[in-house]
Amino acid sequence: MALQISSDCISCGACEPECPNTAIYSGGTEFEYFGKKFEALASDIFYIVPEKCTECIGFHEESQCAAVCPVDACIPDPEFPEDRSQLLAKKVHLHGS
Ligand code: SF4
Ligand code: SF4
Repeated sequence: MALQISSDCISCGACEPECPNTAIYSGGTEFEYFGKKFEALASDIFYIVPEKCTECIGFHEESQCAAVCPVDACIPDPEFPEDRSQLLAKKVHLHGS
């Protein structure tokens, strides 16, 4: 299941550099996906691109954004109910291995 950032986000920026998939962007910043730029998914707070979030599977044992967020704003996104094998496949799709 991809994570999402709730409205509790205080835009501290701690999560962004921790993501192994560059899935986290600050509000208003275009995101990149396979070399193409796309419109920001949020304008005011940080956001996660669900197509790029693997729950850190393949890199870490726990979700790094959730581990560092001081206000517990990184939470599961029920719109993306993926199991571990789907998340691993997403990781391979993103990174090629
Ligand atoms: S759970 Fe991991 S892959 Fe997903 S946004 Fe957070 S740091 Fe990135
Ligand atoms: S660590 Fe938490 S509060 Fe800080 S930018 Fe990320 S989601 Fe927002």
